[in-house]
Amino acid sequence: MQKMNLPLAAFALLPTLALAQPGGWNDPFPPHKVMDNVYYVGTTMLSSYLITTPEGHILLSSNYEASVPVIQAGVEQLGFNFKDIKILISGHAHPDHIEGDALVKELTGAEVVVGRLEVPDVQAFKHPKGKTQPIDRIVDEGETVSLGGMTLTAHVLPGHTKGCIAWSMPMTEAGKSYYGFFECSLNGQFLKYVGNTDYPGIVDDMRGSYQKAKTFPVEVFLSSHGVFYGLDAKYEKLQALKPGDPNPFIDPAGYQSHVAEFEKIFLDTLAKQQAEAGK
Ligand SMILES: [Zn+2]
Repeated sequence: MQKMNLPLAAFALLPTLALAQPGGWNDPFPPHKVMDNVYYVGTTMLSSYLITTPEGHILLSSNYEASVPVIQAGVEQLGFNFKDIKILISGHAHPDHIEGDALVKELTGAEVVVGRLEVPDVQAFKHPKGKTQPIDRIVDEGETVSLGGMTLTAHVLPGHTKGCIAWSMPMTEAGKSYYGFFECSLNGQFLKYVGNTDYPGIVDDMRGSYQKAKTFPVEVFLSSHGVFYGLDAKYEKLQALKPGDPNPFIDPAGYQSHVAEFEKIFLDTLAKQQAEAGK
């Protein structure tokens, strides 16, 4: 558990460092199967998921440009071909989730999917190498992305970014279907709530997104950062799995308590900022 608190503190650096990579965030994490044809191919701190199909693969989030070789190595270590990625679902519009989009596009030719409300910030993003962010398809609330029999559904949960999208997808194991959920981010600890002229509706959006987040019948809980769903501990459990043990990524209670915990952090942060502004 000690391990989990440390990287969370690094989130505080993001707004000021903007394009810099917090130390260690890009270190490889062992690629592994989550469930069904869903695999984790991200780094220690930045999640990336590979969804394999007979018609090619979907990659969820490219992260930093420097993360892309780590993702590629993970994909190959699992026995898949990186060039078979046909669709890249772009992560939420922060540098640590989208900087690698252009490189993934260069290497695979994948169609890049971006949420409509994220488009202005994606287009305004200044890539450190001057690359243009690829946008091939724009999606709205409730729209789906399908390939080779797999379908993901978009759920817009604005606040952390203006159009943060979580994706749901049925996942099957041992003949049973589960509600799989790739959470976007509900982290509201380091955002500006008072006098945010760039995003005047941020407080209402945050409040609405916590309410909406509670309504999803999440069973397989995944997220844009491993630390949000306890990846380290769950991966350890996965390594020690005996026949008949439940898949550690099935964690409906963990999802709900994550939402409640982050809602409280948001409310505390908001109250603090409002008190400071009132002085
Ligand atoms: Zn973010």
